[in-house]
Amino acid sequence: MPAYTIPEHVLKRPRTRIVCTLGPATATDDKIEELIRAGMSVARLNLSHGTPGEHEDAIARVRAVSKRTGVAVAILADLPGPKHRLGPAPDSEIILEPGQRYILRDGDGPSTAKFAYVHPAGFISSAPAGASVLIADGAIRLSVIEARSDEIECEVAVGGPLESHKAVSAPGHASQISYLTEETEAALTVAASQRVDFVGISYIRSAADVRLVRDFFLARDFAPQLIAKIELAESMANLDAIVDAADGVMVARGDLGVELPIAQVPGSQKKIIKLANSVGKVVITATQMLESMINAPVPTRAEVTDVANAVLDGTDAVMLSAETSIGQYPGLATAVMAEVATEAEKSLNREEIAGRRRSGIQGLDSAIADAAVATADRVGASVILAFTESGSTAARVAGFRPGVPIIVVTHDSEVGRALALRWGVTVVTTPRPDSIDEMFRLGSRIALDTGLAKDHERAVAVIGVPIGVHGSTNLLRVIDLPEPEPKI
Ligand code: PEP
Repeated sequence: MPAYTIPEHVLKRPRTRIVCTLGPATATDDKIEELIRAGMSVARLNLSHGTPGEHEDAIARVRAVSKRTGVAVAILADLPGPKHRLGPAPDSEIILEPGQRYILRDGDGPSTAKFAYVHPAGFISSAPAGASVLIADGAIRLSVIEARSDEIECEVAVGGPLESHKAVSAPGHASQISYLTEETEAALTVAASQRVDFVGISYIRSAADVRLVRDFFLARDFAPQLIAKIELAESMANLDAIVDAADGVMVARGDLGVELPIAQVPGSQKKIIKLANSVGKVVITATQMLESMINAPVPTRAEVTDVANAVLDGTDAVMLSAETSIGQYPGLATAVMAEVATEAEKSLNREEIAGRRRSGIQGLDSAIADAAVATADRVGASVILAFTESGSTAARVAGFRPGVPIIVVTHDSEVGRALALRWGVTVVTTPRPDSIDEMFRLGSRIALDTGLAKDHERAVAVIGVPIGVHGSTNLLRVIDLPEPEPKI
């Protein structure tokens, strides 16, 4: 009986990782298992909606199903961020008509037919005359006619019903309030208490916002991977510094398409992905990827092409939002995404993406990772084995986009989950080997037991020596399988 096995459905996953947003449509063990079997590597929770208790239940459910099925699933918790919202709407509907005047004020009271309050305070001073104001992600559009000290008078350009607590924004005029609003602090507290693997920093404006979130967690002795959601004009303008400060980025196309002219979304996606590839940070492409599958069992041709193009652009991960949180076909949408990504990967220009990484910052460990991928190609290896303490060795290898699977061997399951967004990586958790020779034998056993390689084939191993020291990838070896066991 082999000691190290990986379920068939995990071995068959695309190299591109899949993030599924959880919600009412996926609130049972069976539904979570369906997502895992279809290819979910990361379960995302949107902490802007629901109660802490509901989020804790969802996280517990994912962890229990993950444990039962033996398939690691990481948790990504998305923060609300410094977003302004309307107060509650009265029972009688308020309908804004095009051409009418409407006033917005800082405050927290109920909306009326003539004015509405916006909280937290600070929106009014950031929306000058001439600015556009979007309510409910652009469903209602106003134009600021006059900005006074305590209120702005607007003309309604696109009308509609004014509902409770809808988001309010002024594209190009990011809010100036502290990132740590009351709502965001409550979400950060849930993320820390639940020890989630990834935190999505929504409505990030600059690298300073990443630092605030990191410091909040470090003060609680916690260091999740921070994913900067690029969704404002300001975050596009500060992209280099944000990517540098975060552990990864998300092309959050939903808000980006509201905050920027929508025609700029495809170019922004390509720019963000290229930058992330070049510095070896993970990048998720998100929103409306298979939107029609919320209500239909088949996607449109355009959606399938969009998923394939994100893969070809070089994204590490693709994300489903409403398709899996409130859709009718969450498992099917995930399976379709996996199938489309697998097919697109056949035409992926691996060399071009590795070239981006080569043009980015380099060090000894990146040189070894690059050499491991080139060596695997040259010697026809079946698999790359990355032994990792902190995860950095495996992350570096993934950045050079090998043509064969990357098996990450780690003793730390938390480190394994932190790699859940890395392109092409499958994690095997083992006790920590205590010598280099033991690592080679263990790697050989894993390559053969998992069926990723056969006797007389080859594996490439990358290791950091001395063992146990973080970020010291410095050894590359080709293993002719099987590595001989020691003579007793
Ligand atoms: C987006 O805007 O594309 C996004 C991913 O953010 P959210 O779903 O939280 O609005």
